[in-house]
Amino acid sequence: MNGREGHLHGMEGVAEAVLQVQGRGGPRQAARHEVAVVISGALLDGSALVLTTGSMRKERMLTRGAVLREVPGRYEVVELEVDDPRPGEIRVRMVATGLCHSDDHHATGDMRVGVLPFAGGHEGAGVVESVGPGTPGFAAGDHVVFSFLPTCGRCRWCATGHQNLCDLGASLGTNARWEDPTSFRLAQGGVPVGQMCGLSTFCEYTTVSVVSAIKIDPAIPLEVACLTGCGVGTGWGAAVNSADVRPGQVVIVMGIGGIGINAVQGAAHAGASAVIAVDPVEGKREAALHLGATHAAADIKEATGMARSMTNGQGADATIVTVGVTTGRHVGQALKSVRKAGTCVVVGLGETTSSDGDIPLTELVLYQKRLQGSLFGASAPTADIPAQLELYREGRLKLDELITTRYALDDIAVGFDDMHAGRNLRGIVVF
Ligand SMILES: [Zn+2]
Ligand SMILES: [Zn+2]
Repeated sequence: MNGREGHLHGMEGVAEAVLQVQGRGGPRQAARHEVAVVISGALLDGSALVLTTGSMRKERMLTRGAVLREVPGRYEVVELEVDDPRPGEIRVRMVATGLCHSDDHHATGDMRVGVLPFAGGHEGAGVVESVGPGTPGFAAGDHVVFSFLPTCGRCRWCATGHQNLCDLGASLGTNARWEDPTSFRLAQGGVPVGQMCGLSTFCEYTTVSVVSAIKIDPAIPLEVACLTGCGVGTGWGAAVNSADVRPGQVVIVMGIGGIGINAVQGAAHAGASAVIAVDPVEGKREAALHLGATHAAADIKEATGMARSMTNGQGADATIVTVGVTTGRHVGQALKSVRKAGTCVVVGLGETTSSDGDIPLTELVLYQKRLQGSLFGASAPTADIPAQLELYREGRLKLDELITTRYALDDIAVGFDDMHAGRNLRGIVVF
């Protein structure tokens, strides 16, 4: 017997009820189990309660997920309640999720959390478990990758090929449903839990809006597909879209982590004749040399010297900044490394409230350099995620090679320790 108790909330006329979910497979498959509800000592079966009160819609499946209780803090695995999908939503059984620096930025406080507890994770893939009423286009069993940025398909940005800038992105900070900042899909003991990017991929099951989900070919392994939901697209697009790398160019990628390694792959795909990977960790430089980099350097000064030696003293055509915790100093160094009218693309985030900078204005203005921010690789995820997975299928985009370590959900904090120690290109949790 794997009984579990959770609290039902929002039931009109009933102060509190205890939901007991019983079944052979444990609470994580609660949707397939018999449900018994105890109210004021009376035992009603679940269907009877649905007949007596519409608030049974508040019934929630139990799952497990990694949350932050405080900031700064560490991710810990707790039991959570996850909503049944509403119209326009699907519930997904997660198969794999990447550990991204943004998850860590929330834990350290570099990026603000809207609501605590906060269920992390935004780079995930899984299998649709159930579909909300009146929600076309999805069926149980579909394989999906989440886009960490929602794409409504209707706003000015979506309509002009800039899905990464979709207006719904402005709602991410509420950690709630886009359309209702008081409505949360996750809870712990009835207390609302913030949902990272509307996803919270560190949960065994999660309910999301369909505007965050991209259906993919089920032949693609979900363990690798998940990476296209943030890190791969962010890095690859930074080179292909934001830097607009052209054949024969010289490109520096500054910082080889889960993002930078894909900027290396993107620059190589776009035809760069030289891709210089910069990282103080030797193992990361070696990994970059296996995935498209032609040269490697331990620091940006050395890389700048290399780029100048290849260009008759001019400098790199583009430098892409993918440092884990980016500072104004990094941006200034990158700007100096590019030639006249060259492009400096900034992808990495630092302390978001910081506006520190060491931007050499003479370089920017008098050398007419381009300083370009890049969010999710300036991509259109609906088109770009399937395209990247097709490149993977053809063996041209390497994904398996990006995964350094696989963790169980219960070991997720170890994964972040390994991230801090620089041990991983990408760590993933496999459920
Ligand atoms: Zn990410
Ligand atoms: Zn939109």
